[in-house]
Amino acid sequence: MLSKRIRNITPSATSAMLTKVAELRAAGVNVIGFNVGEPDFPTPRKVVDACEKALEEGKTKYTPFNGLGLAKEAVCRKLKKDNGLDYEPSQIVISTGAKQALTNAIFAICDEGDEVIIPTPCYVSYVEVIKLTGASAVLVPSNEDFSLNVKKIADAVTPRTKAILINTPNNPTGAVYTEPDLKALGEVAEKNGLYVIADEVYEKLVYGSAKHVSIACLSPWLLDHTVTVNGLSKACSMTGWRFGYTATNKEMAKAISSLQAHMTSCSTSFVQYAAITGLEECEAEITEMVAAFKERRDYLHARLTSMPGITCTLADGAFYLMPHVDAYLGKSCNGRKIETSFDFAEFLLEHAHIAVVAGDAFIMPGTVRLAYSTSMDNIKKGMDAMEQALKLLK
Ligand code: PLP
Repeated sequence: MLSKRIRNITPSATSAMLTKVAELRAAGVNVIGFNVGEPDFPTPRKVVDACEKALEEGKTKYTPFNGLGLAKEAVCRKLKKDNGLDYEPSQIVISTGAKQALTNAIFAICDEGDEVIIPTPCYVSYVEVIKLTGASAVLVPSNEDFSLNVKKIADAVTPRTKAILINTPNNPTGAVYTEPDLKALGEVAEKNGLYVIADEVYEKLVYGSAKHVSIACLSPWLLDHTVTVNGLSKACSMTGWRFGYTATNKEMAKAISSLQAHMTSCSTSFVQYAAITGLEECEAEITEMVAAFKERRDYLHARLTSMPGITCTLADGAFYLMPHVDAYLGKSCNGRKIETSFDFAEFLLEHAHIAVVAGDAFIMPGTVRLAYSTSMDNIKKGMDAMEQALKLLK
């Protein structure tokens, strides 16, 4: 019999959909993927070169559990330069992707019976990892435009609340939380003595006048009580490299390091050497990628909102848009009724050959998530096909 903890995990809500996409592709259908949460750009050449150099130099052994000194120093310089955050290397833990960094943080903070507040829609891995610790996620809906509803968050605090977990820029909404909202949220955390876990993996992907703000920089109290999580998966198109980190107070960093020592020993040695280049020398590549994402976002938004019944916030960050499609729920095609966002996503896959993720998978019924981490040509073709397919729904 599997453990209760494992039996309690909800399987990925999108796995059935992914199987269907794979089946269609295997049958020769050209499915355009708006479902993939990773940049479609190559990893910068400089990073690959730095990795090759590290391998040639034999940098293939364990590093300290909390990461290579040089990598932690590079993270500190990055956090100072980009985020106005003052950390020492002893406050940094390098991990195997931001996901491990998040998992470490959640395990270091949560006890059985604790509660962690998460604004929704949200990245569902948070909920599952919190459940694994015996704590529970308290889900608080965001405003209509996906901005933080700080009042609702404050109302959700109970004596069991241990932390608030935020993600800005946000997956799945693309929302970039504003400084006033983050300040207000920080005040709620301080008043109630809560940790803040700030997932900032999409930090580099912001458009127009939007600005990413790290909540930890907003007060000395927040600097001490925030676990900032980041990595290079989205910033440098390095999803497969698995480089992430936490920055936090010394006690928490020590606890996270000790947990990681037992779980994975350390992040891959040569990846840590390459990541130093990713952290400090890839601004030009990132700027180019961000410009391409902005052009795609503007086009995708214009196409989506020109379709009857669809409304969509023009989100300022990440590479996601989350249109409302509730106008199509209750309609049918060939006798098959669209009841939920899962049905709608399946309909688009069958009739437009585009893969999107149902909003229900992120606790946001009546919406779907489209990632514009695919070429402009694909976006154009995909939107043409979607426009035609929607006409079939009566
Ligand atoms: N946090 C969010 C909000 C994400 O969307 C993702 C990946 O999709 C991660 C964390 C995981 O990042 P990493 O690839 O560095 O583990």
